[in-house]
Formats: sequence, structure tokens, C-alpha cells
Amino acid sequence: MSTTFSRAVVTGGAGFLGSHLCTELRRRDVEVFALDNFLTGDPANVAHLATDPGFHLVQRDVTDYIHVPGPVDLVLHFASPASPIDYLKLPIHTLKVGSTGTNNALGLAKAKGARFVLASTSEVYGDPLVHPQPETYWGNVNPVGPRGVYDEAKRYAEALTEAYRTTHGVDTAIVRIFNTFGPRMRPHDGRAIPTFIRQALRGEQLTVAGDGTQTRSVCFVSDLVRGILALAGSGHAGPVNIGNPWELEVVQIARDIIAETGSASTLRFIDRPVDDPQVRRPDTALASEVLGWAPEVDWADGLRRTVEWFRGIDTEETVAASAERRPE
Ligand code: NAD
Repeated sequence: MSTTFSRAVVTGGAGFLGSHLCTELRRRDVEVFALDNFLTGDPANVAHLATDPGFHLVQRDVTDYIHVPGPVDLVLHFASPASPIDYLKLPIHTLKVGSTGTNNALGLAKAKGARFVLASTSEVYGDPLVHPQPETYWGNVNPVGPRGVYDEAKRYAEALTEAYRTTHGVDTAIVRIFNTFGPRMRPHDGRAIPTFIRQALRGEQLTVAGDGTQTRSVCFVSDLVRGILALAGSGHAGPVNIGNPWELEVVQIARDIIAETGSASTLRFIDRPVDDPQVRRPDTALASEVLGWAPEVDWADGLRRTVEWFRGIDTEETVAASAERRPE
């Protein structure tokens, strides 16, 4: 049975995923408070909701004490740098938002008696030794490698969420999100899909890491949002994987983007980042069983919609805007 909500808090609500969640919650007539410090997000992502009286964008750092007036029945905790380029520039902030920020968001849910959903990540599986990855797999993470700041922050956040559930009786859930793509990704966030699209649209070479045979499973953002809200309404504690199990080699992603954009760009093979996972694919049996969830948007359709969105923005202007915001 699915619960419906009336007032939700979305931390990181001006980010890529947060903005899509806010939009969908408003579509479902849920009043939304988006808390964001605009570190890697942008008010422009929710500009279409600016005049909506049921939407409130509040500039707030969730590593500080957070308060929202009145009742709240859902807290979606999505605030965190998420792309390697961001968390490698902001290692300490990433650890702080995963620890103190999660503690504050859980405290808010506890005070309000709200359902709480933690945005965790497939990165908790590290460079996985089990493939595809079921929720029962404990992962293969290097805590002192460069990606450790993100992976361990999320692993700690999961442990804290579980502790609030067992100790304080907070109604929590954990979603392990696999690579997601779609409109409003930042062209310079360093992730493969926006990087390749930006390079293809500018006629530059597409920089493929390693030989490109490493795989990624990419989920279109509307499918992810549907899965997260199904989990929120389900009462299930998780962790639950949400992601598209269809696995693609990175070099194939690059070739498909060249074809979709009609670009004359070629490929350039560059060094693989340290601890870059070789394979990544969710086992989504649990999401299917407990949420009845399965992805609906295929790669070709999702890519077409994403490229269309990128054609409508100035991919270079966004760099200048986001380069300003670098507190640690
Ligand atoms: P994003 O960078 O677009 O969004 C993160 C948002 O959090 C930004 O708006 C940023 O300004 C905000 N933020 C950061 N620190 C904050 C703080 N201290 N206080 C308030 N706001 C803060 O990233 P995204 O891709 O939308 O990711 C959102 C969440 O989903 C993150 O928690 C991320 O770890 C998780 N996730 C994303 C993916 C993906 O494929 N996009 C995959 C796995 C997990």
C-alpha cells in the first residue's frame, strides 16, 4: 500500500535529482521545502517552480542546524556533492554533509515524525567483486583512496540512518542510486554523459577513460524519481537499488552520443581515474518485488531527451557560474 504525503522537505532540492523530485512532488500536489546552499546546485534548476505557492526554496547549509516551520511528513535527504569532480574538490565538505548533514536531516525527520529517505549510492559497492550488485553485497571500497570521501560518507550515512531507525524509531528508507542521467546535469560536472554530450556538440574529441570497456548502467531521471517516490510511499526500509540494469560500455556511450548529436567528433582515450570501477550494474530484483518498479525509458529515448535539453543551454556559461561556489 502506498502512503501519500502533504508536506515534504528535499535537501539538495536545487540539484540535478533534487529539482526533478521537487517538480514531481509538486505535480502530485505535495507542498515542498527545498533546502540548498547552492554549492553544486543552482536556483535556476527550480526556476519553473518560483511562482508556485506550494514550493519554497530556502538557502540553507544542512551541516548547520535545520528547521522547517509546521508539519512535515517526508524528508528526502539528497544534499551532497555527487560527481567525482565535485567531491574531489570538496572532500571535507562531502564528509561533513554525509555525516553532520545526514544527522541534521534525520533529526528533522525525528522531530516531525516524518518518513525519511536517504539518497545513498552504488558507490557503497566500490569496485565490486560481485556482479551485478544485490543489496546484500557489502562492497569493496578503499577508504583512503580519493573516492573514499564520498563512498565512506555514504556508508556512514547509511549506518546513521539505520541507527535512527532502530534507536529512535524513525521511519527511514535507504535508496542506493545507480548512475542517472537527464536534463539539468551540469555540462562540466565531469560525469561521462554530460562531458561527452558537451564535447560532441562543440565538435571536440570525446575523452574516453581507459580503453572504454568499463561498464556503466544508466537510468533516465524520470524512472529514478518514480522509484524513489515509490520507496518513500512504501514503508520499506531498504536499502533498495534503483537503477537501470541495462549495462553499456563507456566507449559505446560515447559512440551513441556522437550518433545522436550528429557530431563529426572522434574519440580520444585518456588515463582511467584512480579506483574507477570496472563494472557497475544493479540487481533490481528487490525494487521489482517490493515496489513493483522497473525502468521504462530506454537508453536511446533518454539520450534523445537529454541531448535535446543540452542543445538549449549555453554549455560554457554554466562553468563560470558553478566555479564561484567553492567553500569547504
Ligand atoms: P547535485 O550536485 O546536482 O545535487 C546536490 C545538491 O546538494 C546541490 O544542489 C547542492 O548545492 C546541494 N548541497 C550540497 N551540499 C549541501 C549542503 N551542505 N547543504 C545544502 N545543500 C547542499 O547532485 P545530484 O546528482 O542531484 O545528486 C543528489 C544526491 O543523489 C546526492 O546525495 C548524491 O550522492 C545522490 N546520488 C546521485 C547519483 C546520480 O547519478 N546523479 C547517483 C548516486 C547517488
